[in-house]
Amino acid sequence: MSKTLITVAPTGAWPGKKENPNVPLTPKEIAADVYDCWKAGAAVAHLHMRDDEGKGTMNKNKFRETVEIIRGQCDIVLNLTTSGDLNATEETRMEHLIELKPELASFDAGSMNWMHSGLFLNPPQFLEKLGHVMQENGVKPEIEIFDAGMVYNALYYLKKGALKAPLHFQFVLGAAGGTAATVENLVYLKSLIPQDSTWSALGIGAGHLPIMLTALGMGGHIRVGMEDNVYYAKGQLAKSNAEFVSRTARLIKEANHEVATPEEARKILGLKK
Ligand code: ZN
Repeated sequence: MSKTLITVAPTGAWPGKKENPNVPLTPKEIAADVYDCWKAGAAVAHLHMRDDEGKGTMNKNKFRETVEIIRGQCDIVLNLTTSGDLNATEETRMEHLIELKPELASFDAGSMNWMHSGLFLNPPQFLEKLGHVMQENGVKPEIEIFDAGMVYNALYYLKKGALKAPLHFQFVLGAAGGTAATVENLVYLKSLIPQDSTWSALGIGAGHLPIMLTALGMGGHIRVGMEDNVYYAKGQLAKSNAEFVSRTARLIKEANHEVATPEEARKILGLKK
């Protein structure tokens, strides 16, 4: 039977308690939330950190504190962001990987205008360096794709050796400045990646369920969580990240698939642990 893995992205660099009072912000809150999501069927946790004011930060101490609590509680695969603060230096975006050696980390395969408000910079030299730092530290890149050009960037770094096959992609659809969260866009983007790749997808906002259901039908994996959606349904704020994970696990089973455990996720993604 096919195994589908659920990634939970519990917090992101946004939203705040104002948008949804249930979003976890501190290391303790994030770790507790991840533990609940693991119990509900999440195999991977994609983590961002917040500073004491609740803003996105690449502060290594926050990552360390959160990772230590989670590792003491469960075997969920950790995926740390490298893009948690638009103003972070390139060094700060990589140093937590060197210290904490997560099994996965995000690799944003190009630059873009972020949410019509700022620049999300991933210059060529940075991406090449990031790919090598990940290889040296046993971290598998999760290649985040916001538009088609980013797939071709990834293929370029594969050819240059900064990325190694098989690649793992995360299609992030519906972010302002990137590609809209439509079924057609997901089908098109998936057609561009190498056949031996693994992939997952998410839709931000109203595209959340259509993208999830399409990914499930196409044999992809699924990401959910408050980094991408604060609403569980129209007009209904999510009570917790585990609520999203539980619904996804139900849908996976209804579709005659199985929810992948963290150990199965490690096999599917070829992780080194
Ligand atoms: Zn993220």
